Amino acid sequence: MRLLLIEDEEALGAALRDHLIAAGHAIDWVQTVGDASTAIIGTPYDILLLDLNLPDGHGIDMLRSLRRRGDATPCIILTAQDQITDRIAGLNTGADDYLVKPFDLDEMTARLAAVARRYSGNPNPLIQIGEVEIDLAARSVFRAGQTVDLTAREWALLDQFVRRPGATLSKRQLEDALYEFGAEIESNTVEVYVSRLRKKIGGTLIRTLRGVGYRLEG
Ligand code: CA
Repeated sequence: MRLLLIEDEEALGAALRDHLIAAGHAIDWVQTVGDASTAIIGTPYDILLLDLNLPDGHGIDMLRSLRRRGDATPCIILTAQDQITDRIAGLNTGADDYLVKPFDLDEMTARLAAVARRYSGNPNPLIQIGEVEIDLAARSVFRAGQTVDLTAREWALLDQFVRRPGATLSKRQLEDALYEFGAEIESNTVEVYVSRLRKKIGGTLIRTLRGVGYRLEG
């Protein structure tokens, strides 16, 4: 997923970013409301991770103005233990979930996946496509009953397809989903990962629509 992390605590922000990158996500990390507002314009984020007390404003105010503009990007707020009123205000303003600091990094990953599944319209983590079974919660894939080992990037790519069943995804959309700002992307990177994924889950599952993009079949 392509995530925007808005967190001004250096150590926490760096730890979250590293953990999310290791999990195969693309992260843009900003530390102010101003930078977040700039990043959101023009970048289709899958989920925002939003700290509330930021140097130039409050996360709730930022979320409120986003929702007023009709921006429905999923949002998980990061709050401190004693900020119960903030948690309530966040949920009432349109946040999808919250994490109370300090939180377990694996819990964060699970909450992200759960919010993403709800937005895809299918909260069930188990997906069967032909002989391939995908468990989005456990991040595991089986083909004809055999475990398939995917790298973090391969998983991230498969995740994009599974969360948009039947949709044709352009190469540009996949690049945006898989890579953060400033990442070096070779022109054939998406093709390379699609090809690797096909070898592992079966050649016919991801269809190439020449000049348009890719679509998950079935
Ligand atoms: Ca803060």
